[in-house]
Amino acid sequence: MKALTHSIFAFAFCIVLSEIALPPAATNKLFLLLSATVSLLLASLPDVDARLPLRLIGHRSGFSHSIFTAAACACLSYVLFSPYPPFDLIVIPAVIAAITSHILLDSLTVSGCPLLWPLSRHRFSAHLCKYDSPLANTSIILFSCAAIVAFVLYG
Ligand SMILES: [Zn+2]
Repeated sequence: MKALTHSIFAFAFCIVLSEIALPPAATNKLFLLLSATVSLLLASLPDVDARLPLRLIGHRSGFSHSIFTAAACACLSYVLFSPYPPFDLIVIPAVIAAITSHILLDSLTVSGCPLLWPLSRHRFSAHLCKYDSPLANTSIILFSCAAIVAFVLYG
């Protein structure tokens, strides 16, 4: 998917993830919006492999779009930020939402993601669209915006 699609979907995904996973007493609307904003900024982090000058690893070759990398990033953010409340409530959900939402959206595309790298290089794909499909990108952006508006109004 396009970078803008990843960013807006990550914003909405972070809100939904935090609402589901965190107890209501542990967070508030300001923390949720800050966390969602951090997630928006980090949403294209897995695609950094496409922008490395030396192209040491190919884009979506494994490391950057694996569920094991997502788990490692979640653990690392927990280790780094859990001693520092309230940053833990902002950064940890943001990192998890940014990376998992990115992998989820890329798995919908024809080229898919090597979710189980390094155990397997098989690319898992729902074969729904190409990464640059205007219909898919626009639909996901509109759906995400609707979810964000619903959260702001009723959340
Ligand atoms: Zn990607």
